[in-house]
Amino acid sequence: MSKKVIIIGAGPGGLTCAMLLAHQGYDVTIYEKEDRVGGRNAAITIDGYTFDTGPTFLMMTFVLREMFKMAGKELDDYCKVTPLDPMYKLAFPDKELWPTSDHNKMHEQIQAFSGKSEKGFVDFLNRERIRFDKMYPCLQRPYDKISSLCSLTLLKALPHLSLGRSLYDVLGDYFLDEQLKIAFTFQAKYLGMSPWECPGLFTMIPYVEHRFGIDHVEGGLSRISDAMAEVCQEKGASIKLNTEVQKIVVYNGCAKGVVLNNGQEELADAVVINADFGYAMEKLFDEGVITKWTPQKLENKKYSCSTFMLYLGLDKLFDEPHHQIIFANDYKANINDIVSYNSPSEDMSIYVRNASITDKTLAPEGHSALYVLVPVANNKSTASWSDQDTKVYRDKVIKRIEERSSMKNLEEHITVEKVITPSDWQDTHNLFLGSTFNLGHNLTQMLNLRPHNKFEEVDNCYIVGGGTHPGSGLPTIYESGRISAKAIMKDI
Ligand SMILES: Cc1cc2nc3c(=O)[nH]c(=O)nc-3n(C[C@H](O)[C@H](O)[C@H](O)COP(=O)(O)OP(=O)(O)OC[C@H]3O[C@@H](n4cnc5c(N)ncnc54)[C@H](O)[C@@H]3O)c2cc1C
Repeated sequence: MSKKVIIIGAGPGGLTCAMLLAHQGYDVTIYEKEDRVGGRNAAITIDGYTFDTGPTFLMMTFVLREMFKMAGKELDDYCKVTPLDPMYKLAFPDKELWPTSDHNKMHEQIQAFSGKSEKGFVDFLNRERIRFDKMYPCLQRPYDKISSLCSLTLLKALPHLSLGRSLYDVLGDYFLDEQLKIAFTFQAKYLGMSPWECPGLFTMIPYVEHRFGIDHVEGGLSRISDAMAEVCQEKGASIKLNTEVQKIVVYNGCAKGVVLNNGQEELADAVVINADFGYAMEKLFDEGVITKWTPQKLENKKYSCSTFMLYLGLDKLFDEPHHQIIFANDYKANINDIVSYNSPSEDMSIYVRNASITDKTLAPEGHSALYVLVPVANNKSTASWSDQDTKVYRDKVIKRIEERSSMKNLEEHITVEKVITPSDWQDTHNLFLGSTFNLGHNLTQMLNLRPHNKFEEVDNCYIVGGGTHPGSGLPTIYESGRISAKAIMKDI
């Protein structure tokens, strides 16, 4: 008889793990509390407009292709993937940069942008290629035991870790112009971190953009989760929506199954947690079961920032790029507000995604679906997100977009609108402290020091998603699904 695996949550991590296990003949059931799959990668649909809840940048698509192949499928049979070039617009207060993965064009643009004799781009490509090729294999294996830190793969990567240096220190060195330094290091925000604190080894994020480019999926990146769910079902896995797991049943230190919101108990040979790690430690185990990840220890960990989100259905399509980042006038002060848990910056940075410029399926004809993300402090901050304070901040964000882009009368064109605040991320999406990118990626919370894929406190219990190794971001989350699926195949 097939071994039974229960997965809590149908986010990208849970779906990857389910797809791989179901293909190998495991009897997989996913319980998802929402009425749709995808988690933070689900679609939000309102009156004919489709928005991605979270991820909009698809990088290293080859990792996703590998996951489909390992499940006996082809990604391109399910999703229409198109590269974006230029990748995005960076709007500084006084000038613009349009990063492209065409290296010659990028090199020319850098010279014109800086006005200084910038020679570092070629060095950036050459040296960071070596670092990436050494580092990435380290992210594809588990670090469940101290001895795993002695693996040859990791030892070979050690000289490339840039220990003690930040992303800004390492990549800033390639460029003379301050704004160029920011153009190659702001990507720390993809992990919800500051470029001045993010460990230097994360040079791989800006590097993979320039090496492999950024892709879009027609219909939005949520299509990926839908496609994974289709594969799971084709392989015989069962996905139960609107079904919240209340507890993980643990007997003699071993996970035996789950209790659902209707009180029903479901037994399994293994339980996989895709729900946010901090939330799971706080809510999914009976008192006394978890001794290492105590409330005190969870509190003391570092967490990513949160985000203030606007999803705007517009009755027109603005001639603005697919992805753009509008930088604060004083970017460093803005980042400092976020990492110091201050109130949301008045001088904020804003990411605006105008995907309808390339994808007509996201809104009714002539209309567009605009996605706005403002990085803000997580809920360690005492900032208020009451209805009134939310409305005040929302108005400031819209005004800033009107001032700093060609969307001068944006407000007049809004026909539908949805807001997600840090409080909503915590209360509705079950994210500890509303940290949208999970536990921070400080060196003290990486590899063996991050919650293990094979959960260290309870046998037959595994973790997938942004809260475990290798970390937040779609490619690494897919890797976490693969690492945990392989561990289950080996153990059970
Ligand atoms: C605003 C935002 C923008 C982002 N942008 C990018 C990007 O551009 N590129 C990128 O690579 N990454 C991005 N990310 C990061 C990351 O890729 C996504 O957050 C990703 O969806 C996380 O996947 P996951 O599997 O860890 O968890 P989730 O997507 O959060 O899935 C967890 C699932 O568990 C379910 N769940 C929780 N509790 C229970 C319970 N008790 N019972 C049953 N189900 C439960 C949830 O409903 C959810 O469906 C972004 C994230 C956010 C929030």
